[in-house]
Amino acid sequence: MPERLEPGMLISTNYSGPYRIKRVERGCTCPFYIDEINERNPPRQPPHIHIVLTRPDGTGHFWISHFDEGTLLSLDKSYCGLKSKPGYDRIYIMEQDMPVQMSLF
Ligand SMILES: [Zn+2]
Repeated sequence: MPERLEPGMLISTNYSGPYRIKRVERGCTCPFYIDEINERNPPRQPPHIHIVLTRPDGTGHFWISHFDEGTLLSLDKSYCGLKSKPGYDRIYIMEQDMPVQMSLF
């Protein structure tokens, strides 16, 4: 089972899916969207990934954001310091229905 998320892989999350990965964007430090709405200087977040997704059949267009690729857990989604409980979401790598092309680097 590949450990790195790659285009073509099937994944789901604890709240949605299944999806097929279309693109993975790494090393982003953008603030949470909710902070951008509510704060003049929204805090930047630790490096995280954004994933562009389709349905398994390749249709649709979805995003999931602010996940850590090493743990496949989301960043702490405590909003604006007001939410005391961290809200972690999780990515699950599913059984693949076709070989995944690992990128070389
Ligand atoms: Zn980001």
